[in-house]
Amino acid sequence: MTNLFYNPVKVYSGRKICAEYDYSQHGKRALIVCGGQSARLCGALDDVKEALMGQGIKFSIFDKVEQNPTVETCHAAGAFAREEKADFIIAIGGGSPLDAAKAAAYFAANAKLTPETLYDGDAPNDPLPIIAIPTTAGTGSEVTQYAVLTYHRIQNKKTLKTPKIFPVAALLDAEYTVTLPKSITNATAVDALSHALEGYLSKAATVVSDSLAEKAMLYVGRGLKTLAEGRPDATLREKLLYGSMLAGMVISITGTSFVHSFGYPLTYYENISHGAANAYFLPDFMELSARENEDKVMRAYRICGVKSHEEFRALIENAVPCDRKFERDDAMKYMRTGFNGGSTMRGIYEPTSDDAYYMIKKYIR
Ligand code: FE
Repeated sequence: MTNLFYNPVKVYSGRKICAEYDYSQHGKRALIVCGGQSARLCGALDDVKEALMGQGIKFSIFDKVEQNPTVETCHAAGAFAREEKADFIIAIGGGSPLDAAKAAAYFAANAKLTPETLYDGDAPNDPLPIIAIPTTAGTGSEVTQYAVLTYHRIQNKKTLKTPKIFPVAALLDAEYTVTLPKSITNATAVDALSHALEGYLSKAATVVSDSLAEKAMLYVGRGLKTLAEGRPDATLREKLLYGSMLAGMVISITGTSFVHSFGYPLTYYENISHGAANAYFLPDFMELSARENEDKVMRAYRICGVKSHEEFRALIENAVPCDRKFERDDAMKYMRTGFNGGSTMRGIYEPTSDDAYYMIKKYIR
């Protein structure tokens, strides 16, 4: 029996949707989870606070989510949610606050769960309901059952995966992405494109994930081309946000593949942002996948508006300069960590250790 599609997130979109949304359906007390700055800068935090006050909902704010949040930060946020007797969590931000909020909601409902036992298996209680407000167009976390967290015990990032942490609602307002600097717009777009392509070229791809991926590629792949030509307008911002959401739905079906597993150690050890880390490996992923299914890779390229491996590589490298070099020993460690990652063999092409070396060697100093 094949389950083609399951996604329980109610997705809403539109200008000022965060001000209009009826939060009171989820309870009387909210915890807002965000980072230190971006939720404030883009105006989302103010819109949400105003709406909560208007609806008579008490709220607290946990704004200590760092880039690539640790399991410990999420545990602290969960304990804070319990102390504050929050009925639900509102996550505002890029992938870091959204993923942190999912784990926090899980910790909040399961007082015995610790950073050490988070990944042991399904905890008994359902997490607090999560309302996700993305302020970048990249992770698609607002529509997935994943929280990717920094886990120092394994010196890498590790994904918490359970259908329980699908948000109950996602509120999409592209206006919040307008204040993003070019480097973040580009890197997050590469992350979204990576989700679409890794899902499209996954062994787990279905007719549903392919349909979603093709639209995501059209919006984000072609969007990257337009981004290279100048400042994004409102229409492009909206397409990138929708593309990111669609690509999130793709990986909610297929999971990611070796672009992500090789990218995680670059983020963990070298502090390269997640989207940028994907850029280091995405062109190679396409070339290697073509060994298995060239037609599908070429179809993906056509949708993205490029004609060849070279043009695709130029599109990605133009968006994110992959110019960091690593010491040989470090590079080999990242390669081994990436190769041993859980999603490495999910793609239609299973990389060999020679392929892994081919992918990393151009980044050796
Ligand atoms: Fe990603």
